[in-house]
Formats: sequence, C-alpha cells, structure tokens
Amino acid sequence: MSLVDSAIVRFLPVVPKPVVRRISGRYIAGEELEDALRVVRRVNDQRKMATIDVLGEEIVSPDEARAIATDYRISIDAFEREGLDSNVSVKPTGLGLKLGYELCRENLEAVVRHAAEHGNFVRIDMEDASTTDHTIRLYRELRAAGHENVGIVFQARLKRTLQDIRDLAELRPNVRICKGIYLEPPEIAYRDFDSIRASFVQALEELLEAGCYVGIATHDHWLVEQGQRLTSARGLGADEYEFQMLLGVRPAMGDALVRGGHRLRIYTPFGRHWYAYSLRRLQENPKIAGYIAADTVGRLIPGRNGRA
Ligand SMILES: Cc1cc2nc3c(=O)[nH]c(=O)nc-3n(C[C@H](O)[C@H](O)[C@H](O)COP(=O)(O)OP(=O)(O)OC[C@H]3O[C@@H](n4cnc5c(N)ncnc54)[C@H](O)[C@@H]3O)c2cc1C
Repeated sequence: MSLVDSAIVRFLPVVPKPVVRRISGRYIAGEELEDALRVVRRVNDQRKMATIDVLGEEIVSPDEARAIATDYRISIDAFEREGLDSNVSVKPTGLGLKLGYELCRENLEAVVRHAAEHGNFVRIDMEDASTTDHTIRLYRELRAAGHENVGIVFQARLKRTLQDIRDLAELRPNVRICKGIYLEPPEIAYRDFDSIRASFVQALEELLEAGCYVGIATHDHWLVEQGQRLTSARGLGADEYEFQMLLGVRPAMGDALVRGGHRLRIYTPFGRHWYAYSLRRLQENPKIAGYIAADTVGRLIPGRNGRA
C-alpha cells in the first residue's frame, strides 16, 4: 500500500458516511432481506452458492442480539420458500457474545436448530482474537449437543490455528480457512504476507488430512492455485470442498473457478449495521485511495458522479 493509500485508510473513519456507503455498495447486498434475496438469486444464477451475513457487529442490547437471531431464522425460511442455494454465516458478537456467553449460545443454538429443521447450515465466523476461545467453545458445545449442521472458521494469521485444528480434528469439523481480517499483535499472529500464506497452506493440508470439508476462502490467486493443487492431489470430488469469496471482490476469478468445475460460495452481507463492515472492507482494499479521490472529485466537479 502506498503512503497516500495508508494515510487515506487511517482517516477513513472521518470520511462522511454517505461516501463510505456509495463506494462500499459493491460489497453489501443492501439494508433489507429483500436486497439480500435479490443478490443471492443473481449469485445462484451464476451457478454460485451463497452465505448471508446479517450485519450486527455494533449491537448493544440483548434485544438487538435476539433480533439478529430472528433475522437469520427469517432468512432461512426465505431461502427455502424461494428455492435459493444459501446458508448463513453468523458472528458471535452479533448474537450477543460481548453481552454474555449464555445469551450468545442461546441465540446461536436457536438459529442452528431452525437451520436443521429446514435442511440448512450455519457457519460461525471467527472474529478478533479476544473471541477465539469462546467461539471454539460455542462450536464444541453445539456439536456435543448433537448439532451437525454447524461449521467454524480458522484464521491462518493466528499462530495458534494449527494447534486449534489438531485439537478439533477428531470432530471432523466443517471449516472455512481464511487469512483473517483482524490485525493482531505479533506475539499471537503472523504479520508478513509470506508467513500468512504459508500458514494458510499448512492449515489447509492439516484439515484435508483430517478428512474435513473445507471452505477455502481467499481471493489470493496463489492460494487458490494451492487449493486446487491440494484438493486434486487427494482426488477430491467437486462436492467435497468449496471455494469462498466475498461479494464484489475479484468476481472474474470466481467465474473462472466455476467454469473450471469448482464450487464457489459468495459471502453476502446485508443489514442496517453496514458501516463497520464497510470500513473494514475498504481498509483492506488497495484501490481505496483512488475510490475516495474519485468520489470526492465527483462531488466537487459538476458532471462527474464519483463512480470510480
Ligand atoms: C468467504 C469469506 C469469509 C471470510 N470470513 C472471515 C472470518 O470469519 N473471519 C476473518 O477474520 N476473516 C474472514 N474473511 C476475510 C479474510 O480473512 C481476508 O481478510 C480477506 O479475504 C483477504 O484475504 P485474501 O485471502 O483474499 O488475500 P489478500 O492478499 O488480502 O487479497 C488478495 C487480493 O484480493 C483482492 N482483495 C482482497 N480483499 C479485498 C477487498 N476487501 N476489496 C477489494 N479487493 C480485495 C485484492 O486485490 C488483493 O490484492 C473471509 C473472507 C472470505 C472470502
């Protein structure tokens, strides 16, 4: 990232909300379920599966957490009613983890039970390192309670991940492996690009060795190639693993995977709490400086609409 880019990223929180909304539009389906259903339908038409994320990272009350859980149940009903191919991805903090472990567990179990009744699946997203232990505990408790339609996420960035995978291997968890979006301190996380990539490959090998179903979540071309190499070396069929990408990121790469016969799932966020998610996505995007500059110029110079 250039100096200009990193300066803009640092000042992103003071960029006006409408500007953030406009330039993050491609990463978010919209505010309402109807928006998400429309995008999932489009994604399915492209022969891609979806997973929806009801944005809710800034919730402050148990009622809000319960409302998010309800939104997930309504979404699952809608997928069945409309014949859409989508599961759900939930964030423990959105279901109330910061307000209380039991509250989160109750909400999560309600979503998982509802999903099971409708033949659907729940992925528990992995958030920052302060939540890792609780998230693994939630997953273990759900499995111990007999719920099979639930999966977890591991982050290659974290140094503990390989051990976490080994500890869970006997359960043959359904795992999404990703680099990890949260910047963590060097004592617990790899910080350089190559180490994170190497950890990703090692984690993926370990998961495949344990016979896990893996969602390979990355837009890193090299890692996608490693995923193809490792799954094909094991002779896995197309339904024994999947690739996963974020809505709006590198769609041409996703199209190529689908053309190559791989399954691809598109992570599709929607909801009223779109702001925190947008900031994170934009902070990751190396082209952010250009987008903001174009948007700002678009507002200053008549005749330009700011679309980059
Ligand atoms: C389906 C899915 C689910 C995820 N779930 C989690 C989770 O539960 N917990 C978690 O911590 N992280 C999650 N992530 C985020 C992930 O950890 C990474 O932060 C993110 O995917 C970027 O890493 P990368 O592997 O794509 O590699 P990178 O090297 O970061 O990206 C490769 C290239 O892809 C493009 N790119 C990547 N991200 C963006 C973006 N936001 N906007 C525009 N271009 C981009 C850029 O051109 C970049 O050079 C998820 C990612 C995906 C795809």
